[in-house]
Amino acid sequence: MTVEVWWANVDAARDEFLADLNQVERDRFAAYRRIVDNRRFLLGVTIVRRVLAARFSLPAASIRLDRTCPECGKPHGKVRADGVELSVTHSGELVGVAFADRPVGIDVEKIDPEVDVDGVARIAFAADEVRELARRTGIDKVRLFTEYWTRKEAALKATGQGLGGDMTTPEGIQVVQLDVGADHRAALAVVSGEPPVVRVRDASALLSPGSGPRP
Ligand SMILES: [Zn+2]
Repeated sequence: MTVEVWWANVDAARDEFLADLNQVERDRFAAYRRIVDNRRFLLGVTIVRRVLAARFSLPAASIRLDRTCPECGKPHGKVRADGVELSVTHSGELVGVAFADRPVGIDVEKIDPEVDVDGVARIAFAADEVRELARRTGIDKVRLFTEYWTRKEAALKATGQGLGGDMTTPEGIQVVQLDVGADHRAALAVVSGEPPVVRVRDASALLSPGSGPRP
């Protein structure tokens, strides 16, 4: 099975993308207090809309995206579209979207040297992960911590459940680390019996001026 992963840099966000957003998305865009957060959100939505627009030969604005929360019915849940499984992530300078035909989760985290590695690991990580972290120091330790964290987040997004305490993935879940350079870590999880073929795509062409899919 194949998973398509699209990456963009937060710099690629442009105001013209707003034209393709629905009302729920515009409200959310307007609610972010920090500009960087609404840029990341705008990029995530736009990648989803433009990739699906190209795939289904539809205008980007006409793609129906649903964010209904399964718990309360408000539109703040994970984004869903008919006929495809997808997952969106943003952190630091990066925005990523994964598309698959099975439940999928993607997570990127900017490496934060200030993070309380030992404090979080003690509460949320398995014994073997804590042990492995104890062998590292400085930025190496933070990098490994961030790797573990992205794996857990990606699995959680794919299944709605965490990896549990231990590092071994439940049967039927595949978790792979994605290479996103020195400043970030990223992982992909997919509900599948076999490791996915990951196709990594750069979204910049999709997002450059005048390159949006035409109706
Ligand atoms: Zn809710």
